[in-house]
Amino acid sequence: MADSFATLKASAAEMAAGSIDIERCRDDFPVLNRQVHGKPLAFLDNAASSQMPEQVMRAHTEYHSRYHANVHRGVHLLSQEATEAMEGSRETLRELVNARSTKEIIFTSGATDAINLVMQSWGRANIREGDEILISTMEHHSNIVPWRMLCDEKGAELKVIPVSDDGVLDMEAYASMITDRTRLVGIVHVSNTLGTINPVAEITRIAHERGVPVLVDGAQAVSHMKVDVQKIDCDFYVTSGHKMYGPTGIGILYGKQEHLEKMPPWRGGGDMILSVSFEEVLYNDLPYKFEAGTPNISGAIGMGKAAEYIMSVGYEAIHKKEQELLRYAVEQLQSIDGLRIIGTAPEKSSVVSFVIDGIHPHDIGTILDLEGVAVRTGHHCTQPLMERLGIVATTRASMAMYNRKEDIDQLVAALHKTIEMFR
Ligand code: PMP
Repeated sequence: MADSFATLKASAAEMAAGSIDIERCRDDFPVLNRQVHGKPLAFLDNAASSQMPEQVMRAHTEYHSRYHANVHRGVHLLSQEATEAMEGSRETLRELVNARSTKEIIFTSGATDAINLVMQSWGRANIREGDEILISTMEHHSNIVPWRMLCDEKGAELKVIPVSDDGVLDMEAYASMITDRTRLVGIVHVSNTLGTINPVAEITRIAHERGVPVLVDGAQAVSHMKVDVQKIDCDFYVTSGHKMYGPTGIGILYGKQEHLEKMPPWRGGGDMILSVSFEEVLYNDLPYKFEAGTPNISGAIGMGKAAEYIMSVGYEAIHKKEQELLRYAVEQLQSIDGLRIIGTAPEKSSVVSFVIDGIHPHDIGTILDLEGVAVRTGHHCTQPLMERLGIVATTRASMAMYNRKEDIDQLVAALHKTIEMFR
């Protein structure tokens, strides 16, 4: 089984890539030195939320201790500095995903909020009765529920691209499911449950041949791989700060300018206007048209710092490190009797979901916690995927750039202990 993973073979590019100085990198993340229940912390829950480096915390503290002020409206120095820092962060995030312009980068409270923005604005303006929205079986609830809500409101149909038993998207089925009524394709870039990396550029190409726009949910991609929205050519791309070493409560929506220009604002209030009277409102230019009210300024600054941190380490080095960890984790976990890995696609990011015969994932998670190992257990907000795979929950270990083989060893030792207890 192990050999069926293409990821198990290190590519030439991976071998040539630069390396992460792991001790220096770990020093940037103070939380990694703490003990949990008297054991060293093995933090393997990065797909839920990754840890923050000191560089991000410092940027956050500096904003609050030196130039805390509201943005865009103030003429005083503190407000100008806050505005500069926040807009600088928008530029860094533009660079991170290679958008054409900062007009295409909208700050949101996260990936979920960004998808809801597209649903409320683009979706409500463009979806009509009888239309179809196409998503996949492996979507996170964030990329299901808003579309289910819209379909219910409009009398549209939500269609679902199937996945194989090993967690690969059925591309043939996908191509055949686009009809003259399809108005949007919504697809996850990297599955949070399976680790599957979807061919989003190819998916977009196929949709565009039929004139259908594509939204990519990149919540699990941006911390692991170079995302180039121009190369993917998607119409919308969303992600969250807290899954890429940044703060919670902040994220971005990338949208092609041509769409964003035409889309009506969703939330109304301060900052998203040019002028207001009781009779008429003139809306602000992009990106502010979609940013009503005081934004999460410290979050935006922190997310920009996190993007800088990722770029300073470099995606090649991150990819090399994480693929090594993935190979090691798969090898080690496969040697455990009764353990089955869920999601064995050839193209995977550093996520390993598994089930163990006769032991509920929640019990596994609780015992692992006592051993200092933080993993996630449950349906991972992908209930329809669980149903498709005929399981109720998995235990998921997800690795980030700062993890070490020792973390996996600690996980494996704790799993052996768990199995002993249930025998
Ligand atoms: N999509 C995917 C694939 C995710 O993993 C998550 C978070 N688990 C989300 C969307 C939602 O992200 P957030 O909760 O930060 O909005």
